[in-house]
Amino acid sequence: MAEITESKNFIHAFIEEDIAEGGRYAGQTVHTRFPPEPNGYLHIGHCKALIIDFGTAEKFGGLCNLRMDDTNPTKEDVEFVEAIKEDIHWLGFDWGDRFYYGSDYFEKDYEFAVELIKKGLAYVCELTPEQAKEYRGDLTTPATSPWRDRPIEESLDLFARMRAGEFEDNKYTLRAKIDLASGNFNMRDPVIYRIRHMHHHRQGDQWCIYPMYDFAHPIQDALEGITHSLCSLEFENHRPLYNWVVENVSVPHHPRQIEFARLGIDHTVLSKRKLRALVENGYVSGWDDPRMPTLCGLRRRGYTPASIRNFCDRVGVAKSPNTIEYAFLEHCLREDLNETAQRVMAVLKPVKLTITNYPEGQSETMVVENNPNRPEDGTREVTFSRNLWIEADDFLAQPIPKYKRLYPDGPECRLKGAYLIKCTGCVTDENGNVVEVLATYDPASRGGDPADGRKVKGATIHWVDAETSVDAEVRQYSNLFDDPDPDAAGKDFLSCLNPNSLEVLTGCKLEKSLASAKAPASYQFMRLGYFCPDSKDSTPDHLVFNRSVSLKDSFKPGK
Ligand code: ATP
Ligand code: MG
Repeated sequence: MAEITESKNFIHAFIEEDIAEGGRYAGQTVHTRFPPEPNGYLHIGHCKALIIDFGTAEKFGGLCNLRMDDTNPTKEDVEFVEAIKEDIHWLGFDWGDRFYYGSDYFEKDYEFAVELIKKGLAYVCELTPEQAKEYRGDLTTPATSPWRDRPIEESLDLFARMRAGEFEDNKYTLRAKIDLASGNFNMRDPVIYRIRHMHHHRQGDQWCIYPMYDFAHPIQDALEGITHSLCSLEFENHRPLYNWVVENVSVPHHPRQIEFARLGIDHTVLSKRKLRALVENGYVSGWDDPRMPTLCGLRRRGYTPASIRNFCDRVGVAKSPNTIEYAFLEHCLREDLNETAQRVMAVLKPVKLTITNYPEGQSETMVVENNPNRPEDGTREVTFSRNLWIEADDFLAQPIPKYKRLYPDGPECRLKGAYLIKCTGCVTDENGNVVEVLATYDPASRGGDPADGRKVKGATIHWVDAETSVDAEVRQYSNLFDDPDPDAAGKDFLSCLNPNSLEVLTGCKLEKSLASAKAPASYQFMRLGYFCPDSKDSTPDHLVFNRSVSLKDSFKPGK
């Protein structure tokens, strides 16, 4: 877990060299981009890339573009484009007026492809996809193509006819003429255009040939004046091709590609394809299900932008792949909410508590602090009376060893912020289930402390007033996957799902100040955890809260 504490950023070091006197971009504004493919919602892995792209630009007083990578004509959806923008703004980043689509450059891509053909650096090949595999060669045998020496004029003519729609899918490809013997297979005359008679979500039916990502991406970067194209490690082997493209077509800029390791988190999957499968097969309620590692899911769960940015910063920018514990993400949220969340009382699994020596029909208000960490957050009033709700497990008819809470003739316990009480007994139904706990209170202990300074041996427990409390549904979540590594290659991730990742509690009792709670807001339910009103399902008539994270921290630094 060294990354969590060190957080060295080798990308910043490279950029510092590049913009220093004599560096390749001396005197230039640092310019990055974030290029999501709009085929799903952003997940926490994308946050790392966002923080690297936007954060690096911020650090160097530069710019960061937002570019939808919609080069591939399949799957793009307007819903995703809008959601991606919303999520990025929510995290606190802004692209200004620099919002682009990769497909806006299709005409330029085409012109540059023609330029390559004219220079003798690209040719139309007619190997079928199966043949292309056969002719690929291996580590010791170079690839071959019988079409490599096709005359320039012929390639130009065929490429124009490919564009005009004369040929069916896969009949021809345009290949860059680089090095059939290269040890890097990406350089063995890679395909840069293919025929696809497909509708494009923005270009309509204008095109039936589409550029490959490895050709289109460096051109997009170069045309936008990107200085540093920061991407994840799987593109490392594509860098020579990236450089070859910008060096061989007449683009005005030569961006530098730098790769970083993808973020992996245990007990979850970080791939839009897999997340989409969870949604489409109904394993979750949607992309924003609070168990999803998507930004919209985390937001609905109660994650704050600060907690996510802090998490990514502390994970750091590494060159080698790393998997971070989910518990560390929770740790970062807990740290943030501990500072900011209002403390309230809520009883999730209630049982009645009657204070038998408190007068019937009487009540009083206690003034309590909203957040002991932030006196500036003020105080509020909670009602106390003879009839209260407490957690069922704060009472035992028969105590077990070391049990310090309520049991008949047990130790004096403190009702948080109210009075000291002693349990005197309980009432059970015909099945022996406890339906009511009985206790007496010490009227001289208002506020929760004894007047004579005697030691209180029992626990402090939370409670709510029965008369004024409001009912709520509370959703408690645990890991979506039992398996620590459901994302591993070749694993059937759907078979790793935790069938008990959602527990729905109804009839929970909340103090009345929560009657008007609305998202976004976070509360600490004392002794229980951090909770937030559900942004979709909670209404004043039917309050619904999500548990964002429990109070118990399972993250062990240095483990
Ligand atoms: P997915 O497999 O989830 O679809 P992707 O890489 O295809 O991921 P893109 O929309 O292409 O998703 O990603 C946009 C940017 O986010 C890319 O630069 C990509 O490298 C980066 N990115 C995606 N996933 C991660 C991750 N887990 N960690 C760091 N960066 C990531
Ligand atoms: Mg992608």
